[in-house]
Amino acid sequence: MKPITGSCLCGKVAFEVTGTPIKFLYCHCRSCQKSTGSIHAANLAFPGGSVRWTQGEDLIELFVDTQENPGFPRCFCRSCGSPVPKLSRNQQFWVVPSGSLDSDPGLKPTANIYWAEHAPWYVSPDQITKHEGPLVQ
Ligand SMILES: [Zn+2]
Ligand SMILES: [Zn+2]
Repeated sequence: MKPITGSCLCGKVAFEVTGTPIKFLYCHCRSCQKSTGSIHAANLAFPGGSVRWTQGEDLIELFVDTQENPGFPRCFCRSCGSPVPKLSRNQQFWVVPSGSLDSDPGLKPTANIYWAEHAPWYVSPDQITKHEGPLVQ
């Protein structure tokens, strides 16, 4: 199978993912809201051994959450702050931020997890208007 490639926003950290994704989930936990600065995370899970760094591994910073989800690891590019793949807490699988991928992983999200913590202002994207570009030029 051809590897899927991914990278951070500045491009200094890059990786390849092989193997078949196990799951694609939206996570609404407070830890994901805080660390993404957004409404939820959108992560793929791949089997252990699926991710290979192709550049910039030395720029990856590890942060371990002590507040919202104590012990939960976060990895990001030290240069641009983008989330990058990390091993799960039990080291059994890779958690890959879907927005870091450079091509279609070939599956769609199937579940919202930690829905009990979802933002009170959440609305489904299908409930609000869509614009091809910015709302105001
Ligand atoms: Zn970067
Ligand atoms: Zn989460």
